Amino acid sequence: MTTLQLPLVSTCSASSCAYNRDSACHAGAITVTGDASTCGTYVESGTQAGQDATASVGACHRSECVFNAALECTAQDVAIESSGDVASCRTFQLA
Ligand code: SF4
Repeated sequence: MTTLQLPLVSTCSASSCAYNRDSACHAGAITVTGDASTCGTYVESGTQAGQDATASVGACHRSECVFNAALECTAQDVAIESSGDVASCRTFQLA
């Protein structure tokens, strides 16, 4: 069995997300979804969520990204940026 090294979320500017502390994501892993590379793990809640460690990218549905292999992300790390009411992967690059 091969152990997959998941890319870390290097930074996230979605400060309204319950997993966000000091521009870092603390979910166990995020899923990037949709036509706009949206972070599908984003959630607003009155409760602080997540763990101490920095989040990884667990899965990504943007198969057209240069870093995507079999719906997994192979980038070194990714940056998530808040724009309006969505958080999107800024590391996305069209293959
Ligand atoms: S860099 Fe590409 S493959 Fe990785 S999470 Fe972002 S959109 Fe998905």
